[in-house]
Amino acid sequence: MNDAYPQDLGLLINGEWHRGGRNVHVVTNPATEAPLAELPLATEADLDAALHAAQRGFHIWSAMSAHQRARLMMRAAQLLKERKESIARVLTLENGKPLVDSLGELDRAIETIEWTAEEGKRTYGRVMVPRSRALSEMTIKRPVGPVAAFAPWNFPVVLAARKVAAALAAGCSTVIKPAEETPASCIALAQAFTDAGVPAGVINMVFGVPAQVSNHLIASTTIKKVSFTGSVPIGRLLCKLAGEQLKPVTMELGGHSPVIVFDDVDVERIATMCAAFKYRNAGQVCLSPNRFYVHERIYDAFVARFVAAAQRIEVGDGLRPGTKMGPLNNVRRLRAAEAFVEDACARGARIETGGKRVGTRGYFFEPTVLTCVDEGASILNEEPFCPVVPIMPFATTEEAIAKANGVEFGLAAYAFTDSLTRASQLVESLEAGWLGINSFTPSLADAPIGGLKTSGIGYEGGPEGLDAYLHTKYVSQASLV
Ligand code: NAD
Repeated sequence: MNDAYPQDLGLLINGEWHRGGRNVHVVTNPATEAPLAELPLATEADLDAALHAAQRGFHIWSAMSAHQRARLMMRAAQLLKERKESIARVLTLENGKPLVDSLGELDRAIETIEWTAEEGKRTYGRVMVPRSRALSEMTIKRPVGPVAAFAPWNFPVVLAARKVAAALAAGCSTVIKPAEETPASCIALAQAFTDAGVPAGVINMVFGVPAQVSNHLIASTTIKKVSFTGSVPIGRLLCKLAGEQLKPVTMELGGHSPVIVFDDVDVERIATMCAAFKYRNAGQVCLSPNRFYVHERIYDAFVARFVAAAQRIEVGDGLRPGTKMGPLNNVRRLRAAEAFVEDACARGARIETGGKRVGTRGYFFEPTVLTCVDEGASILNEEPFCPVVPIMPFATTEEAIAKANGVEFGLAAYAFTDSLTRASQLVESLEAGWLGINSFTPSLADAPIGGLKTSGIGYEGGPEGLDAYLHTKYVSQASLV
């Protein structure tokens, strides 16, 4: 066990931490494969207690004004700022990402909480033009009720913060299940809200056997909304459960983002920038650029520069100074990376750099570039979520757009060109909810992220993300005199 990693992991139910006396999941350091701590898993009785608490919490929290709620949320953000260094270390230990990236994630989580708390004060309805002078007509926005939220392990703090902050700013209570792989950083997030004075029952945090938790929570009549970030297959599963109960969902699912690079750009600068963004978080990012289509006139030069940049990336333990890319988070991702390379090579792909595991301990994988990739290869059709990237040439804009749109995913898309006309054409034609033209912007507090096609339903972030936790009531009121 590691001294810097908390040994008192628990379940937060009705303002109290529950530990011991339950089955456990052993949390592992992906850089060393050494155990970090034991995480208690919720029983059915725990889940019922969390639901009961969320119901109580909803009555208390929704009765408070948006200004009162915002004050407590701002205090939680301040506590996170004060605890940032120690939480970032814990995040690196359980997730694997470099410490500097963990600090960056904490900053984004804090900004998300602050921005959303403020935005909660602006959940205005509207006053309508009435049909008669005796009538007033308006819409008002009200919280949907207790929310079941499921957050993943790739950005455990900021993705949990997005769900919790939006739900709380809207006046909802939550039962949130973060990923069992990365519990301690999320526990620190919940602790900050508790210490800030958010009433018991407003945030309940459980861990467990994922399918058991989601089945139990979503089926409960207490839960009025479901929010999930993760893979398309699990998203489908949770949508079915929510559909049976006709509950609204927010689904932030997988992506397979294309990048189109035209021949009117500075190849060296753009290739280096693309490689840096691709290998961020070891490629385990839903917005990660996953397929590169490069104009044939600059293709060879682009591949050479991209490969050189990939080879310069320091792979290692995230706590070691100088590390630019940590291990994959878990053995499933390591096996997936190996399988993507094996499948592509079996279909004729060439490995330009990387292609294999680094060492034999820890889930490290080399930053990898593939060329001559067959269109049927799994790396071009399944979400990679690892540091493996195919680069393909194209000849015409129409061909590049058709290839970019040729998958079932529609989360993000990127393009690099110096032509304003072409940029406008791409903005209209690329089938994605998040577009970067000459830009790679990570998700921001005030920007909505939402996928087209199988990449999701609804939005997180921005006013759109807050709206997902509100319902609109139409009110017509007539005077009786
Ligand atoms: P996964 O789909 O098995 O799990 C993703 C998350 O969902 C985990 O936190 C897991 O605990 C949770 N989960 C799994 N089954 C669940 C269930 N029945 N009910 C509720 N929650 C459940 O995938 P994984 O192996 O952890 O990661 C692999 C894939 O997940 C990636 O290829 C990627 O497509 C996707 N993913 C996407 C994001 C994102 O930001 N969109 C984040 C993490 C993972």
